[in-house]
Amino acid sequence: MTLHNLGWIGGPSGIDRAPAAPRRVATISLHTSPLDQPGTGDAGGMNVYIVEVARRLAKRGIAVDVFTRATRPEQPPEVEMAPGVTVRHIPAGPFGDLDKHALARYLCPFIFGVLRAEASNDPGHYDLVHGHYWLSGRAGMAAAHRWGVPFVQTMHTLARVKNMSLATGDTPEPEARVRGEEHLVRSADRLVANTAGEAAELIRYYDADPGKVTTVPPGVDLELFTPGSRTEALHHLGLPSDAELLLFVGRVQRLKAPDVLLRSVAHLLQRAPGLRQRLVVAIVGGMSGAGMGEPGELTELARSLGIADVVRLEPPRSRSELAWFYRAATATVVPSYSESFGLVAVESQACATPVVAARVGGLPTAVRDGVSGVLIDGHDPRDYARVLYRVITDPERRARMGEAGVRHAASLSWSTTVDGLLDVYRAALGRRPLPLAASQ
Ligand code: UDP
Repeated sequence: MTLHNLGWIGGPSGIDRAPAAPRRVATISLHTSPLDQPGTGDAGGMNVYIVEVARRLAKRGIAVDVFTRATRPEQPPEVEMAPGVTVRHIPAGPFGDLDKHALARYLCPFIFGVLRAEASNDPGHYDLVHGHYWLSGRAGMAAAHRWGVPFVQTMHTLARVKNMSLATGDTPEPEARVRGEEHLVRSADRLVANTAGEAAELIRYYDADPGKVTTVPPGVDLELFTPGSRTEALHHLGLPSDAELLLFVGRVQRLKAPDVLLRSVAHLLQRAPGLRQRLVVAIVGGMSGAGMGEPGELTELARSLGIADVVRLEPPRSRSELAWFYRAATATVVPSYSESFGLVAVESQACATPVVAARVGGLPTAVRDGVSGVLIDGHDPRDYARVLYRVITDPERRARMGEAGVRHAASLSWSTTVDGLLDVYRAALGRRPLPLAASQ
């Protein structure tokens, strides 16, 4: 057995020992695969998070296996997503996309599949399990318990918090999820929160032990999302150089409130009818399980508001294509009812485009209010229209905000996220030495 296997490194005397980083991590992402296109179905910020973190952990010599539910029969059991990162498809329940709430029924076969995959796995053992979202947490904790290794959980969203800020027509999260989250909060070795606000919510609404909670903000890909010529970006999108583009990026869900953007645009055009010739409102992203009802609902809303001529519903785009949208935009609008962090807001700022967002969830961390964007209390479309009017008609302020956004985004890199996660992993390993089996 080496000291490394005990979860510690340091001098032979054991003095000045520091916990070691894990060598192999099992990441659990039950309900959505890192191979899915973000902006569709259930794939969004969490998928981006898992991909970006796994790639960077692997570059630092830590192998990552991401376990996700198989959704199509032709999916191979293992896919190498990047050097050192393997996605493992675990059959559990029927193929096809399932509603998240239905997935709880398939937790047992999923856990069984994860254990079986590990048992037939060469080189075998994981040093640590990291669960993302409560369903994965339930599965990850069972696996970690079986393997005798530490378990780290990131909730991403919390049912109790979500239920306090539902959009009209949204179904509350079920009690089973609340109970599942409570259990995870009690039993996980460490809890990772995306923001200080989420850490406080874990403590306040779930009675989490503050000593177990660490805040590690997500990051942004600073090589992909960079400032650039707005004119060139407008040209790339086939838009005239004098266009004012208001951008919404994300899954089309009630919770994300794209309807608030459309209603605010109707107010904006009442106030400044001359803008109509130049205004373009792009909604980039696909319908999600908890979508806007019928796919045509937004189109119908735009028509009924008399703004269909300025609204473009765009299919989900790759992240490199999204960078063009951000660069071309006058402002990115994030009017969500709840948002665990808001990667879109940070990506926009990295491209020097100000963000107009609701003051909810992680957005006050993601956006520097009055500096790199504007945060709005509530969801009154008139408030959004007023702010958007000011952003459109004051290019100098907009440029200042854009520059501040680039600086703010630069403080949020995925590399910093990985540094923070490794500290958490080390702390978890330090608290609980690996079992003998892991060192043989
Ligand atoms: N996204 C994408 N293509 C799209 C729409 C969204 O790649 O067409 C990505 C976007 O770049 C961001 C993520 O999906 O990284 C959404 O994350 P966010 O935190 O904004 O929202 P969430 O999905 O977590 O609610």
